[in-house]
Amino acid sequence: MQYGVDERGYYGKFGGAYIPEMLYPNIEELRENYLDIIAEPGFQEEFQMLLRDYVGRPTPLYFAKRLSDKYGASIYLKREDLCHTGAHKVNNTIGQIILAKKLGKKRIIAETGAGQHGVATATVCALMGLPCTVYMGAVDMERQKPNVERMRILGAEVKPAESGSKTLKDATNEAMRAWINNPTDTHYIIGSVVGPHPYPDMVARFQSVISEEIRWQLKEKEGRETPDYVVACVGGGSNAAGAFYHFLNEENVRLVNVEADGMGFSTGKSAATSILGKEGVLHGSRTLLMQTEDGQVVEPYSISAGLDYPGIGPMHAHLFDTKRADFYSVTDEEAMKACVEVSRFEGIIPAIETGHAFGALPKMELKSSDVVVINLSGRGDKDLATYIKWGGY
Ligand SMILES: *Cc1c(COP(=O)(O)O)cnc(C)c1O
Repeated sequence: MQYGVDERGYYGKFGGAYIPEMLYPNIEELRENYLDIIAEPGFQEEFQMLLRDYVGRPTPLYFAKRLSDKYGASIYLKREDLCHTGAHKVNNTIGQIILAKKLGKKRIIAETGAGQHGVATATVCALMGLPCTVYMGAVDMERQKPNVERMRILGAEVKPAESGSKTLKDATNEAMRAWINNPTDTHYIIGSVVGPHPYPDMVARFQSVISEEIRWQLKEKEGRETPDYVVACVGGGSNAAGAFYHFLNEENVRLVNVEADGMGFSTGKSAATSILGKEGVLHGSRTLLMQTEDGQVVEPYSISAGLDYPGIGPMHAHLFDTKRADFYSVTDEEAMKACVEVSRFEGIIPAIETGHAFGALPKMELKSSDVVVINLSGRGDKDLATYIKWGGY
């Protein structure tokens, strides 16, 4: 079984590029060039230098002693929370901006929901001196004011999407429209392993530095390169794809995806795509998504803005379909309790997205010999207001 993408851009029956005719030249230019550019020594040199000196890689693989004692297994945390900007997202935006420069692009557009990807994009645009426009739903702009201001401080223009529900999917539509109107000089930085081919594969490659590092770090600490489990939360699925990448074809490593179940999947306020999703086309690829009988996208819900996405990337749909990965769903309440537990046991306040990954630990049946790596995708500073509003600590 192949878990990576094939030449046509498919993971099994998922993936592909379902795009309007007008976008075809943009996507085709990217598809024809991305692998060659990424393989160039010049690209790799700049990418590695920036990951090291700007992002702060390699991020530590930390043995979490007190959590290990509690759950009766050896638990390691991959510290993506220590990346510049506070999460894994910057690994991808650095890769894409270098690629955009090599393609001769003069400006960058992006869409953002919670604003985290917008901030990571505005950051690398400042770094490279490229103009940046970020599309964001007007409702999301109201909900995520600090990130809107961060983007503005960094010099980006934040454009409100005023159509539909004024949230992420409307921002995506606006960004697509802007791309169609400026096809030759603009690169669209997508923030997760979603969208038309080659985006899911390209983003997974940029994030794969996470599992590349886990292998040699685990070898140093445990004398083996492969853990028994790799656990990650999944919104679109980029931190999970990065953490899984170099283990995809090692069937003795269990891949564990953790979805946000909000108030519970039976309440209608959830984002658990593996339970609620059906096959369809979302943001240009065939995947699993939450939709009504007649194919309208259902508004997802989660306490964590980063997991509030109505689908999962096509790689993860394939991992689900083939049962290569286990899927757990964790409610708001379970995730918040896990966040506090990690804070109290390890002195690390995680992003609420990441709290979902920790929320799977009590549901897994671990043995004392098991080595578990949890991808600590981001830090909790951005979520302080949500912690306070929840209040259960
Ligand atoms: C955005 C975000 C996520 C969800 O995105 P993926 O593409 O699924 O990784 C998870 N954790 C943090 C900290 C994030 O900022």
